[in-house]
Amino acid sequence: MKKKLPKVAYFCMEYGLDNSFKIYSGGMGILAGDYLKGAKDNNLPVVGIGIKWKQGYVEQRIDEKGNLYDCFRDYDYDFLEDTGIKVKVKIRQSDVYCKVWKVDCFGNADLYLLDTDIEGNSDRWITGRLYGGGAEERIAQEMVLGIGGVRALRALNIPVDIYHFNEGHAVLAGLELINEKINAGMSFDKAWESTRKEVVFTTHTPIKAGNEKHSIEALRYMGANLGFSIEQMSRIGGISFNMTVAAMKLSKISNAVSELHTETANAMWVEVENRAEIIGITNAIHSGTWVDEKMKKKFLNLDEMWNNHQKIKKELINFVEKRCRVRLNLNALLIGFSRRAASYKRSDLIFKDEKRLEKYLKDGKVQIIFSGKAHPADITGKRIVLNLVEMSRKYPNSVVFVENYDMEIGKMLTRGCDVWLNNPRRPNEASGTSGMKAAMNGVLNCSILDGWWVEVCKDGINGWAIGDENIPETIEEQDERDAKALYDTLLERLIPTYYNRHQKWLEMMKESIESTRTFFSVDRMVNDYYKLLYKK
Ligand SMILES: *Cc1c(COP(=O)(O)O)cnc(C)c1O
Repeated sequence: MKKKLPKVAYFCMEYGLDNSFKIYSGGMGILAGDYLKGAKDNNLPVVGIGIKWKQGYVEQRIDEKGNLYDCFRDYDYDFLEDTGIKVKVKIRQSDVYCKVWKVDCFGNADLYLLDTDIEGNSDRWITGRLYGGGAEERIAQEMVLGIGGVRALRALNIPVDIYHFNEGHAVLAGLELINEKINAGMSFDKAWESTRKEVVFTTHTPIKAGNEKHSIEALRYMGANLGFSIEQMSRIGGISFNMTVAAMKLSKISNAVSELHTETANAMWVEVENRAEIIGITNAIHSGTWVDEKMKKKFLNLDEMWNNHQKIKKELINFVEKRCRVRLNLNALLIGFSRRAASYKRSDLIFKDEKRLEKYLKDGKVQIIFSGKAHPADITGKRIVLNLVEMSRKYPNSVVFVENYDMEIGKMLTRGCDVWLNNPRRPNEASGTSGMKAAMNGVLNCSILDGWWVEVCKDGINGWAIGDENIPETIEEQDERDAKALYDTLLERLIPTYYNRHQKWLEMMKESIESTRTFFSVDRMVNDYYKLLYKK
């Protein structure tokens, strides 16, 4: 007899299921959305828990003068199903009711979303803006997701074997699980031990300072500690309560999102005692969402593959013309770069020694499409975006910036460019998934050996490596060296291949597709989750 698979409740702040559904911001949401689609495709017993964001993440525009401005608008969705259920969470001493919505329309496993924007709540704005507000708003949001999420599962009568926290945001769910057991008569220590057996955790941020912390005082003020003492709270997350540390101490096993990230994460948390082991399960993507139908077959005829690619590239060129009023050249090299404008991603690294690139941009041999958003409070990120906008004005026919990066732009770019550029400061890119989308569409990666790419890169065969795996002492040195390596790869190897060795280019495209399409498909990932994380 086949053993019954464990029922999993997956908690995440954001889900990228469809571009029209604005409850995501970036890579983590896309991963969560692809995971739910993979679970559905593979018939796995998973439910998602998230938040119905009224305004979603920021909409970021550039005006005529080249200024950047943020806007927010309210969204309403007619496809949400009202479950009729409300759960209560006490936040800052007052009862907050969370309405529970159900979503099952984008080919995803069941997803339940909590919403505080209802009549009678004193604070309806908790679920207003994804990653908006300050520390108190964040804690309130995390209380809704974690504590409200567990209560929603109970109210919906959904039995759960495993609680999967995607990122530390969901960690308060662990406190609620302990709380439930204490209410049923267990001691704190027993309840903690027993909770650990049913929780697993995925960590994402390889930069220590990027791992969210709150003072226990703030958590107590908000009511997020559920009555646990300072001593009990600090045993779980430290006196400055670290959400990642707490998640590792509340789970039986955790995973990092690529092989390299597994090393980084283990080194980063080496001093944390009594934490869950961190294993590696590399991220992946839902090909049904990201790979163009025209690139899905196994090509015997490489010219057919090329013709299909050119068709898709033309669709992208039309799309860019509509958005930016610039007509790019179908027969010239087209490089894509779209990412969150976080400084470690170094979106403008390619302009570090602009002179080396100038002649190619002027004669149109190199064309670059950029897109990306900066978090509303991230001044450095905004400066990076503005620098890209400036470059697009300086080289109007060969550099474009597509404003307001979202899933649609991501889809168009990772399908239609010739090359996908990625140059983060190693080892800060935990995985990255946009490069996987590109690779499976035959768009060649040209990337620093970081995140997922180290695992599959065969330099000059299925894409290109920028530089080597050494990490210099200082950031300045690293930027200097990586920029030089980027120009060397681009000017000496990549551009000559594109213009002079067409057959070689086609072989590389084919190899890019074949070397990635199975391993980096979310089918592999969800099955790994079941085998390695959710096992008994
Ligand atoms: C795929 C995707 C991401 C994740 O890409 P990274 O490589 O992790 O930067 C982020 N945002 C959007 C809109 C995407 O489509």
